Parts: sequence; structure tokens; C-alpha cells
Amino acid sequence: MMTITEQNKRTVAVQARGLRKTYGRGETEVAALRGVDLDFPAGRFTAIMGPSGSGKSTLMHCLAGLDSVTAGTIHLGETELTALNDKALTQLRRDRIGFVFQAFNLVPTLTAEANITLPVALAGGKVDAEWFASVTTTLGLTDRLKHKPHELSGGQQQRVAVARALLTRPDVIFGDEPTGNLDSRSGAEVLGMLRRSSREMGQSIIMVTHDPVAASYADRVVLMNDGVLVGELDHPTAETVLASLASLGA
Ligand code: ADP
Repeated sequence: MMTITEQNKRTVAVQARGLRKTYGRGETEVAALRGVDLDFPAGRFTAIMGPSGSGKSTLMHCLAGLDSVTAGTIHLGETELTALNDKALTQLRRDRIGFVFQAFNLVPTLTAEANITLPVALAGGKVDAEWFASVTTTLGLTDRLKHKPHELSGGQQQRVAVARALLTRPDVIFGDEPTGNLDSRSGAEVLGMLRRSSREMGQSIIMVTHDPVAASYADRVVLMNDGVLVGELDHPTAETVLASLASLGA
């Protein structure tokens, strides 16, 4: 029989406990995170929201192992991220985490297909052809695979970035304003794809956004203010998210 702790570890993709992050020292010291406890369930799509300067990006960067914490622990599944050295962290990011940033970060000289398979190739792995076909079909990219990024629209480029993130079957995908550079129609397309990959492929997704419409694609919204968690919403809509932000004076 599984103990509760074991079961918890299997169903929680990312866990943060007592997270603190301070930038600078003395008079210029800024407490960006002031004690955050948070579980991100596996297979779910969570959005992190809050006013500008509330600590959203800092939280995401710490959770993704891109920035160190001042205090507290972060677990990715059973692995304690906060206990790893730089080398182990780099490897963990490569093998177990997917990223979709506001800037698409595609290699301009490579085709869409080569961009999507690049992380697998760099890790010395073999591309699972069936999974590749499934991901690129779901993302509507099958007739764009031979194109270079400059031959694709913004929405298509970001779908390539999502496909690249999905291909390694990461434990979690982090999105940092993934639709920030897209018009609303392309943004809706990409967000719909992210939601689908969570619902249909069981992909865990954590996305930072300031856009209530983008957040409404998530299963859950967690709200930050002044470096702490101040609330959460299940089944968010743009209206309930806006109302929650308004109550924070955002
Ligand atoms: P958000 O993403 O919600 O806008 P951030 O996480 O970017 O918030 O910032 C939280 C706080 O930490 C802000 O007061 C910001 O000015 C500060 N901060 C963020 N990054 C740095 C940094 N590299 N050096 C100093 N202060 C920072």
C-alpha cells in the first residue's frame, strides 16, 4: 500500500515550502518572496497572477531552478531542487522541465522540426516518432515543420516552442507570459493548446501571466501580492480573476 506521503509525491508536480527570496542587501534589500507555501498538482494547468512587482516572476524562476532561493525548499516530484548543485540543476532543467517564454527563443537557422527536436538531440536522446507526430498534430504544425521561424507567424512560432517543450515529456512546463507577444487570436490558440496538452496529455503546467483572459484557460489561479500568496481560484473566468485582482487594489 502506498503511504499518504508517497501518494502525495506522485500527485504533486511541484511543491514549495517556506519560500523566501531577498534581492540586494541593507538599504536596497527587497523581499520578493516572503514565505510561500504552495502545491502544484500533477496534470493540472495553474496560473500565477498578481499585481506588478508582487513576486510572480521571482516565484516562477525559483520553482524552475533558474534562480536560487534565500530560504525554504522546492520539490519537483521527489527531487529536492533546493538541495542540488549547479550541474545537477542544469541537468534536471534539461531533462525534466519544459519552458515557454514570452520571446519564442527558436533557433532562426533551424526548421520548426529541428527546433522541436533540438532538446532531445542535445540530451543525446532518440525522438519518439509517434509522440512527435501526436504533439505536432495536436498543435496543428504538421504542414509547417519544414519552415524556418521567420516563415511562421508569431502564433505558429509559439506553438513550435510549446511542441519543443512537450516533446521531452517534462514533469512540468513553465510558461512566462507565453502569449505576451501575440495578438489575441494567436494567443487564444496557444492557450487552447496548452490547456489541451494538460487535459489530454496529462501535462503539468505552471504559467505566469498578468492577463485575466490568459489565466481563465487554467484549471486554477493562485494570487500573489507583496511576496505572499493571498488567494486562489478554481475554474477561473476572466471575470472572477479580474474581481480578485481588483480586491487587491491591482
Ligand atoms: P512580478 O513578476 O510580479 O512583477 P517580480 O518577481 O519581478 O514581480 O518582482 C518582485 C520584487 O522583486 C519587485 O519589487 C522587484 O523590483 C524585485 N526584483 C525582482 N528581480 C530583482 C532583481 N534581480 N534585483 C533586485 N530586485 C528584484
